[in-house]
Amino acid sequence: MDIGEKRERLEIKNKDELLEELSKCRRCRFCLDACEIYQQSENSEVMSGYGRVQLLRLLLDNTVQLDDAVVYPIYSCLQCGRCTIVCKSKGQNLEVSELIRIGRSLLAKELARQKGK
Ligand code: SF4
Ligand code: SF4
Repeated sequence: MDIGEKRERLEIKNKDELLEELSKCRRCRFCLDACEIYQQSENSEVMSGYGRVQLLRLLLDNTVQLDDAVVYPIYSCLQCGRCTIVCKSKGQNLEVSELIRIGRSLLAKELARQKGK
């Protein structure tokens, strides 16, 4: 697994575009074992690339509320890109770690907005 390969930067401008990309996850879970944090969390799915994609999707469509319990899995991602490599090697073709990075950025803005209330 070459984790040094060039990472693709996605042009995602807003929540709706991110939600559309996240919805392309086919839930195959091929990427689970690639994630060290998942392995160290005694295989808690929410701590994997797959789990983070699903959690972001649920946050963005307002199925779950933004709190510490959901923020932690998103922010514990190391951005190593291993999940992306597996996803692409299996033909699923999602920029998993990039989607997590963009999701984090959107959440940070939302958290700042909530604190500013
Ligand atoms: S490998 Fe890709 S499509 Fe499959 S669960 Fe992981 S992120 Fe979703
Ligand atoms: S980029 Fe994040 S979710 Fe993907 S394998 Fe690395 S730590 Fe896990």
